[in-house]
Amino acid sequence: MNIRAEKNRLEDADKRHLWHPFTQMKEWLDEGPLIITEGRGSFLKDIFGRWYLDGVSSLWVTLHGHGKREITDAIKGQADMISHSTLLGLTHKPAIELAEKIIAITPKNLTRVFYSDNGSTAVEIALKMAYQFWQLKGEKKKRAFLYLENSYHGDTLGAVSVGGIDIFHKIFSPLLFKGFKAPSPYCYRCGLGKSYPSCKLQCLKAMDDMLGNNRHKIAGVIIEPLVQGAGGMIVSPPGYLKGVRKLCDKYKVLLIADEVATGFGRTGRMFACEHEEVSPDIMCLAKGITGGYLPLAATVMTENVFNAFLGEYKELKTFFHGHTYTGNQLASAAAIANIDLFKKEKTLQKMQGKIALLKKELAKIAELPHVGEVRQKGFMAGIELVKDKKRKTPFRFEEKIGWKVCEKAKEKGLIIRPLGNVIILMPHLSVSKEELMQITDKTAEAIKEVMG
Ligand SMILES: *Cc1c(COP(=O)(O)O)cnc(C)c1O
Repeated sequence: MNIRAEKNRLEDADKRHLWHPFTQMKEWLDEGPLIITEGRGSFLKDIFGRWYLDGVSSLWVTLHGHGKREITDAIKGQADMISHSTLLGLTHKPAIELAEKIIAITPKNLTRVFYSDNGSTAVEIALKMAYQFWQLKGEKKKRAFLYLENSYHGDTLGAVSVGGIDIFHKIFSPLLFKGFKAPSPYCYRCGLGKSYPSCKLQCLKAMDDMLGNNRHKIAGVIIEPLVQGAGGMIVSPPGYLKGVRKLCDKYKVLLIADEVATGFGRTGRMFACEHEEVSPDIMCLAKGITGGYLPLAATVMTENVFNAFLGEYKELKTFFHGHTYTGNQLASAAAIANIDLFKKEKTLQKMQGKIALLKKELAKIAELPHVGEVRQKGFMAGIELVKDKKRKTPFRFEEKIGWKVCEKAKEKGLIIRPLGNVIILMPHLSVSKEELMQITDKTAEAIKEVMG
């Protein structure tokens, strides 16, 4: 087979029929796409046989590497039995056993698992459940949500309603429900003009006021614990998350922890909430849940939330919500194998030295002239590029600076993706120290070359 001809055929068909997510397709049509054919460990192979380091875990999902035997075997074994039945009126072993495993590893108050198939639906379910919870409790006015500036909870309309990234979300505002937007704990560019720690977490005070004044209207607070991912890897200061939990208790609102990005080891603990010993009322899980093999999500909640929905058939307390592929067998089998690998491979223990190494390498990158700040929590890292380091002047949107750095990195055999002016590094949890050094070295070189 002539590879060049095959590549041209695929590229042509892609450009005729595909519409890529978060992509300006006019630009896409003018560029040559990278066509991926294979994955092994921390690497991706393109159609010409060139290998690239996967520096963003294939969009924040891959944990134990590509082509991991235990996970592919679990999927194959399950496919030989059955690939899909349904959880509407039936049940099955993979969904049951996965629920047991999820409950065993999530914070202690969480007891129930509701499945869906992506992060956005996990969030929709959390929002609808929190709303209906208060309706069933007779607190009919508690129906709004408090969310943060720079937050990202997915792309469906409910999730966008609690999203705080204007360039993604603003155009849809007429379609959205209203909520309360609290300041982001973005210390590098503090909206309140304070600096940590002398601020004594003024941003929490703002949330306190909002909740205090509107406690009768607010059903829940939704946050990405510790790291606002898509907002640019904004790491909240110590004590912030615990403070939010306290406010939720004080004003009787549910805390929804969206751990879609931070969950499953990303921050160096199994879940970000563990760092501050916080147990949310509802937790959303997706991305890493199958280790990057199949789409699956789970919304996990307390027995208190669950109990509110129990009643006689005719009372209509039922949660009328469900997605067709809810708890799919193949995805559940992959998730079980993925979770089992954490113990077998001592993933979290082995990560600690690598997290320290990443920190050391990022500190060098922080010295570069156009790097305003580096932020890191475990294996979630962001490098914020600025025009003027002293004044923190951002690059303009149209300068596409993040995009240029990532294109340069691609030439060097590293796949990374920017979020505006922030370069994101999200290595596989199983990355080797050598590979990790290559990721940071190539990133540093790309930044230097683009900045001239
Ligand atoms: C990615 C993400 C989502 C959305 O997940 P999808 O599977 O893309 O729908 C929701 N919340 C957070 C924090 C995320 O990072």
